Amino acid sequence: MLQIDLHVHTLFSLCGIHTVLELVERARVLGMKGLAITDHGLTIGGRLNSPFFERFQSPYPEVKVLKGIECNILKEGSIDLPEAYRQWLDIVLAGIHPNIPKGLSEKECTQMVVSAIDNNPSIDIISHPNDPHYPVDYNILARKAKEKGVALELNNSKILYNRSSVENTMNLIEACRDQSCRMAVCSDTHAILELGTDESVRPLLAKADFPEELVVTSTAETTLAFIESRRKNKMHK
Ligand SMILES: [Zn+2]
Ligand SMILES: [Zn+2]
Repeated sequence: MLQIDLHVHTLFSLCGIHTVLELVERARVLGMKGLAITDHGLTIGGRLNSPFFERFQSPYPEVKVLKGIECNILKEGSIDLPEAYRQWLDIVLAGIHPNIPKGLSEKECTQMVVSAIDNNPSIDIISHPNDPHYPVDYNILARKAKEKGVALELNNSKILYNRSSVENTMNLIEACRDQSCRMAVCSDTHAILELGTDESVRPLLAKADFPEELVVTSTAETTLAFIESRRKNKMHK
């Protein structure tokens, strides 16, 4: 179980089915120390609401609510990060989503993600780089992520729901291990019982002998330290 889950969708994403409060309440019941609300960037629908970013506070002091977004990579080098929300963001995820047509080559997908990292210092985590619809060269990506201090996500849902193979995901983990690139283990919660889950991917980290010090979400303290270390990047375009 994650102490702080950095990838959680609410009703504000078209694919989410829960309110912020339902998720915060579930985190409290589970004894989690926090969660990041990371609804999708607007390119793939849903909405973002400034009162959440500007005014919402966790009703429970023991459950920290971080404010984030999972941006869409639009094309080479750009993401749909709304400028107005930059000041309130604790965490920025970015990933390739269905606004990008399937069938691109590994070279094209790799270039798309690498140039997004290069052009957007706000990005903290690349979400689900193991999506088989958008094949990426993991060694090139891990090298770039390490250079920029970005973490690559190890997405629990992709394994839980068989949306990426164990073999493909092991290749990602091994590339991160070999390049000393940090990984963020996240649930990518859409349905509430997924909150805080890491059980589908933890055995894969063990199998790869992945160093725990490279897991930014290892504990609440390491998670928050990662977020603080990246905060200065949020104000840079
Ligand atoms: Zn995603
Ligand atoms: Zn997501």
